[in-house]
Amino acid sequence: MMGIAYFILARFGMHLFSLQPENLTMIWLPGGVGLVMLLRHGLKAAPVIFLASFLANFNGLHIGHDISHSVFHTFVAAFGDLLAPVWGMKMLQKSLPNGIQYSNDLFKLGLYGCLFPTLLSSSIISANLFFGGYIHFNEVLETQRMLVLADSLGILLIYQCYANWHKRSDDITPQLTDLAILVVLISSILVFSMSEGNDWIAFLVLPCLVMAAFRLDGWLASLISAGTMLCFILLTANGHGALVSSSSVETNSEMMAFVFSCAIAVYGITLQKAHLIETEKAKVHWQYEAQFDSLTRLQNRRAFFSILHDEHLRAEKNHHHVYVLAAFDIDNFKQLNDTYGHAKGDIVLKTLARTMRDACRAKDTAARLGGEEFIVLMPYSSIDDAMLTTDLIRETFSHRAEEECDVTSSVSIGIAQYRPGLEAEEILNAADKALYSAKSSGKNRVVIAPESFASRV
Ligand code: GH3
Ligand code: MG
Ligand code: MG
Repeated sequence: MMGIAYFILARFGMHLFSLQPENLTMIWLPGGVGLVMLLRHGLKAAPVIFLASFLANFNGLHIGHDISHSVFHTFVAAFGDLLAPVWGMKMLQKSLPNGIQYSNDLFKLGLYGCLFPTLLSSSIISANLFFGGYIHFNEVLETQRMLVLADSLGILLIYQCYANWHKRSDDITPQLTDLAILVVLISSILVFSMSEGNDWIAFLVLPCLVMAAFRLDGWLASLISAGTMLCFILLTANGHGALVSSSSVETNSEMMAFVFSCAIAVYGITLQKAHLIETEKAKVHWQYEAQFDSLTRLQNRRAFFSILHDEHLRAEKNHHHVYVLAAFDIDNFKQLNDTYGHAKGDIVLKTLARTMRDACRAKDTAARLGGEEFIVLMPYSSIDDAMLTTDLIRETFSHRAEEECDVTSSVSIGIAQYRPGLEAEEILNAADKALYSAKSSGKNRVVIAPESFASRV
């Protein structure tokens, strides 16, 4: 399939973007296809690339020459076309083993993927054209320069589409409006640039492509960039646009240099944007990890104490703003671990966490302080409401442990309410003491701290 794509793109390139002699083009997309084939399939792809290049080049090299001469020189041209991506692949695998990740890597892609391999293949191909009698000696350097630019451009455009394709998001619906606006804008610019005196407008494709790189997924931006560049080349080849000058050599070189610069700038922005998104995701991830317990997904100790501190300050400022702390500790958990194993113990911990989450209100904070010790902070709560909620958790947990985990387990709970003049630690100690009373008076129960009882009456 990729061999056929190689052949079609080669013929398409020769047809639409041809220079003299006929088989030279302003953009050699097959160079990029060959590199991608080799990066994906290794050297197995080499014979396919060789054959596709041979078939694509033969027509152009056969005109006006006998068959054995044409076959020989097409053979050498195909060899040159193959050598560039093979060498590019080898150097890229060595210098960028994980492919392009950061905009910084563009330097290596430019050198090892584009410049060095295309210098080699263009030397072979231009020498071959000269010795085959297809070009004059004074055209050799010019031909080589065209080949380097055309091949590098093809490699850059195809490689970035390929590399960004792997990072595409599943849903592009949110980007469709931006995509449509940018496509209309770029098409209008290209069409207007064809009218007399307006050729300067063509340069405005660059800011549009920069916008595409910022606003769209990398693969969409790459596709738009590649499509725009192809249209730009096509227009210039047909004598339109700002880069058309009196000499065709000058026109072609300026156009290829401009297109290459645009393509690499757009690719750099897509890479930089992808990197920023990754960094932002990692930041959110690590912020989450720093705040939540990895087993139960409840808030961890550190996050809880920060929330408690804020809540306590609020309560001190507003005496109607009382809160309740409920301390939880699973009964005989060590024994449960010893009997059923640590993995089962973990499931029981998760079951208690889920039960707490289910029973708590949105404004409550449930946290795991460590081991099998949990806590719930209930702002704006009376001790009676807290009693009802915690008792529901206690009952539901025992039921779920039995039904869902096939173990008998229970939890003891101590609750204490905020009172003016007390520090948060004192309320926490009161809840802990109540929990201790719950343990010592037979476990599997909720005990209210005596001070909180006093404030209730
Ligand atoms: P009590 O009824 O008095 O609370 O007795 P207990 O056995 O529950 O109390 P103890 O503090 O002696 O045991 C706590 C156990 O919790 C000991 C430890 O192995 C276990 N544990 C702590 N963290 C984890 C964990 O993340 N997973 C599991 N499965 N067990 C844990
Ligand atoms: Mg304990
Ligand atoms: Mg315990």
